[in-house]
Amino acid sequence: MKTFFQSFRIVLHTARVIFRMDWRNIPAFVGDQFLLTLQPFVALFFSARILDVLAAGADRGTVVGWILAAVGCNYGIYLLERFAACSNSVEGVTLYWQLYQEMSRVMMRADYEELEKPDIGLARERIERSTNMFWYGPWEVPGVLMTLAQGITITAASLALAWPVFLPVKGEGIPWGTILMVLFVAGSSWYGIRSEGRLYELKESALEDLAEEFRKRNYLDQYIEESRGAKDVRLYAQKKMIWKERQKNQETIRKLSRARAGLHAVSNGVKGAASQAVVCLAYLVVGARALAGIFSVGAVVQYVGAVTRLSEGIRVLVYSLQHIRMQGPHCQEYLDFIGEGKDPLKYRHHQDGTEPVPEGGSWEIVFENVSFRYPGSEEWALRNLNIRLKKGQHFAVVGRNGSGKTTFIKLLCRLYDPTEGRILLNGRDIREYRYEEYQRLFAVVFQDFQIFALPLGENVAASMRYDEKRVQACLDQAGIGDWAKRQPKGLKQPLYTVEKDGVNISGGEAQKIAIARALYKNAPFVILDEPTAALDPLAEAEIYSGFREMVEEKGAVYISHRLSSCRFCDTIAVFAQGRLVQEGSHERLLSEEGGEYAGLWQAQAQWYQ
Ligand code: ADP
Repeated sequence: MKTFFQSFRIVLHTARVIFRMDWRNIPAFVGDQFLLTLQPFVALFFSARILDVLAAGADRGTVVGWILAAVGCNYGIYLLERFAACSNSVEGVTLYWQLYQEMSRVMMRADYEELEKPDIGLARERIERSTNMFWYGPWEVPGVLMTLAQGITITAASLALAWPVFLPVKGEGIPWGTILMVLFVAGSSWYGIRSEGRLYELKESALEDLAEEFRKRNYLDQYIEESRGAKDVRLYAQKKMIWKERQKNQETIRKLSRARAGLHAVSNGVKGAASQAVVCLAYLVVGARALAGIFSVGAVVQYVGAVTRLSEGIRVLVYSLQHIRMQGPHCQEYLDFIGEGKDPLKYRHHQDGTEPVPEGGSWEIVFENVSFRYPGSEEWALRNLNIRLKKGQHFAVVGRNGSGKTTFIKLLCRLYDPTEGRILLNGRDIREYRYEEYQRLFAVVFQDFQIFALPLGENVAASMRYDEKRVQACLDQAGIGDWAKRQPKGLKQPLYTVEKDGVNISGGEAQKIAIARALYKNAPFVILDEPTAALDPLAEAEIYSGFREMVEEKGAVYISHRLSSCRFCDTIAVFAQGRLVQEGSHERLLSEEGGEYAGLWQAQAQWYQ
């Protein structure tokens, strides 16, 4: 655990980051909390004054004047506080989401390979879990700093109102009452620090244990609530089983939470008793002095009230200092995640070249002895690959599952960089080109392509602004133009049912929309990675014949298990266990008896004989 000062520095750093992110919430939040803190002191001050002027037998005008001043002040503070609270409720929510959004921004900018690893997801999950379960992390920083300010304000204001109580009075002897009061406040603070520390340890260990149970619970709830699992749940009569799992999980969560709740209750009980003892002593000390004629009636109200607030102020102060210490490590995790820490997590480390990608004309991509191993893997996914792709050339990649076809596409589009060897574009290593510009050369439909719950037109254009005619033309070419025209909102039709008037689409329809999106991008290289898996044979034939025309001028790379779809390509590359084992036209490869291609072809052809 970090020391208080280390944590305090981290918390202040987080506060600066938050202020930079969105400062608008700060005045409302600080104003609201400050006014809330101030309110009771103003009331206390005026009550004491009114009692004193009454006891002194002041004239009616003076008494009414004090009462009006009290009411006016209280109401003014009340109005200001409400105004700040309303503004805080709006801006606070915005800031709350902004802190999440910042993490999403980091994930969106992260290298693809980082997202394939579990680390980034786990780091985010831990940050979210800490805040959702125990209110740790940057979300709490404004509150924690404010509590510190409140602790200081309450303590200072109470001392300002109650200081005469702590001064010795001539002829009173040893002020045992006052000494006891101080001892109770100090003892309760010490106990507060100890019990909060223990509570923190329990929470830290629960973060891991409970997290797993929560993950399980969320997973089971998804299974129960979503239609995705509903077919299996019903047909395999799994309701009882899932329900029992859910209850078992609930019981574990309850057990894990009970120890903390017990400690919390005991700790609150002890602290409450100590603060009541302080109030008791305050009454004794102040009452005795009032009886001795040292304090006025108004002073009794003021001093007892202020001493009560003083013990609360010190409790708040101790609590806030303790919490700053606990927030430190969690804020550090957040700062590291968003790249603000001293040792930020590096989710973006591809080399971004400075060279502009050549415009228009002829592009040629060459794989020069490329080998690739996935991070953390011992196995080569691709080995010594030498391949040449040109604009205008239609290229097919075939091979068994796991032979490296998709990995080849990922390297081609620079989602990964080769472990060994180089990929050249027009003779220059692709790492020298500007990263995003290079990726604009490719329109890919991956096997696991994603269509979003957004309007149809935005999905196709990958943008909120688009050329409607061109979108419709691409949908026509992808064989889904008529379907699009039939939608109640045309291109503005939201897909899936996240929005209330969205439509659900089938796997085949989604695939055609993904193909339309690739066409709309109008990139010089089009890549279809098993794009027709969810299509019926007629739709597939339609797409392939249409596609050949559409991408005639471009470079096209097809990956398909149906070899008949690839036979019209200029070159077919056959992959086996990460190596390029054959390359040539369909006829030539077929004539190589005993070759991988002929084997694959015959295996498929026999079902059609
Ligand atoms: P194909 O597309 O031909 O089915 P892939 O390119 O997907 O094959 O996979 C090639 C090899 O790389 C396989 O052995 C596969 O298990 C491995 N592989 C694929 N993706 C990953 C990954 N993200 N991490 C580790 N290994 C992977």
